[in-house]
Amino acid sequence: MITGKNYIGNALSAKGEMTYQTLNPKLNVANATSFTEATSEEIDLAVALAYQAFDTYQHISGEKRAAFMHAIADEIEALGDTLVTTYMSETGLPEGRAKGERGRTLGQLRMFADLIKTEDWRNPTISGEANELRQYLMPLGPVVVFGASNFPLAYSTAGGDTASALAAGCPVIVKSHPMHAGTGELVASAIQKAVQKTGMPHGVFSNLNSAGIEVGVQLVKHPMVKAVGFTGSIRGGRALYDLASQREEPIPVFAEMGSINPVIVTQNALNARSEEIAQTYADSITLGVGQFCTNPGLILGIKSPEFTTFTQNLGEKTAAIDANCMLHPNIHTAYEKNGAAVISQPDTTVVAMHQDTVQENYAQAKIGTVSGDAFLKNPKLHQEVFGPFSLVVQCDDTQQLLQIISQLEGQLTGTILAEQEDYKDLSPLIERLQNRVGRIIFNGVPTGVAVVDAMTHGGPYPASTDSRFTAVGNQAIKRWVRPFSYQGFPEELLPAFLK
Ligand code: NAP
Repeated sequence: MITGKNYIGNALSAKGEMTYQTLNPKLNVANATSFTEATSEEIDLAVALAYQAFDTYQHISGEKRAAFMHAIADEIEALGDTLVTTYMSETGLPEGRAKGERGRTLGQLRMFADLIKTEDWRNPTISGEANELRQYLMPLGPVVVFGASNFPLAYSTAGGDTASALAAGCPVIVKSHPMHAGTGELVASAIQKAVQKTGMPHGVFSNLNSAGIEVGVQLVKHPMVKAVGFTGSIRGGRALYDLASQREEPIPVFAEMGSINPVIVTQNALNARSEEIAQTYADSITLGVGQFCTNPGLILGIKSPEFTTFTQNLGEKTAAIDANCMLHPNIHTAYEKNGAAVISQPDTTVVAMHQDTVQENYAQAKIGTVSGDAFLKNPKLHQEVFGPFSLVVQCDDTQQLLQIISQLEGQLTGTILAEQEDYKDLSPLIERLQNRVGRIIFNGVPTGVAVVDAMTHGGPYPASTDSRFTAVGNQAIKRWVRPFSYQGFPEELLPAFLK
């Protein structure tokens, strides 16, 4: 049952006076439950409990923490249709997406459980005469997690950040996303059941409601919080990063933020399969109503009659796709505003736009185009338009295309669409792109992030605040640990896996 209360460890609490409701964007009406924003005292209590829990939780064996993670996955699964219908009522997203994202969330929890069953992930290392130094990775302490509006399950309450932090041995306090507070509470209740069933310490997990920035700000400033995981906008991520670095004890903020994900299409690729690329990209740009951090927001090619035809075709195919509901009126308004801001820049034109009259909160997909020259001169054209929008850049030549890539802000992904005849000329492009992105996709689409060991989901700033780490896949656990060495220690005093 959704109560609208905060989960402070195992206890439900609603001491505050500020309440808010989530919204069903499809119906444009508020959902029934009132959520009570966490008070300053409740925040302090949640953090104090997490700090206390860290003392025991960090020493609980990997095997037992793995059982806890499996139990969380099982309890989320046991929420059944209630979770799916709540998710749908708070996001306007379809059932298939809700179930798919739930599957991904369960898969992530079980993946981290498998990782920590043995202690190898801690990279135990012994050096020196008579085994003088022994190093391993140890957890940082309580972690605060901010989820994103567009992934209520996989990047929120029990999403990748929470799963990897709990796996590492860090207690977690979630700052619940106000747009899907009910989905968040259901997942929090599943985590609490798992805490109790597997005997984890009280306070190892809390879920705090908030519909503004105050709760998040207090959490990030709290001296007992030792790291922050954030998925969301560049503005939000940067604000929290700055806040964390101004603390008396600065702490790391691993923020995964927005991106425009450049796609480069060669002349040979257009000659071979222009139609097919246009359709594939129209589908990718509108997937999930364009509400993905890996949405292809920028398409680059060199001016030619074929590139002009492709641009037109991409515009028509994108505009022909049925309009769909966005996550929230605020996101819809931002889409309209940011799209208009890009299109109104000098030398920028709309190629095509979805023409049907649409319901409230539904997005009209758009494709714009601009010259390489204008794009180079105007950073306003580099802004993320979160939604079904992409800007096609008509470059004068390869030189200009390479210059554009070098000047792009950091990105999560880059994509190259090319034919075998291109391979001999691709090195400069690959090298430049590698310096700007976390992952290059060859002849594919950037949407869709596989949760596997070799995945890099991150990239140079502003794609993320720390390009040395990934937020997706097993390696995401490394964000929540630090190396630690014992020197000259007798065997009896060492943890078992370092003996
Ligand atoms: P958002 O507006 O930045 O919100 C994310 C969370 O941060 C919310 O809980 C929000 O709280 C909080 N927040 C925002 N600004 C804050 C501030 N100044 N101080 C304290 N807290 C703050 O982002 P969103 O709308 O949820 O997500 C959409 C964005 O996320 C897009 O840009 C998308 O590209 C990006 N994204 C990135 C990834 C990735 O992996 N890189 C994945 C998915 C989405 P309140 O709402 O309560 O203010």
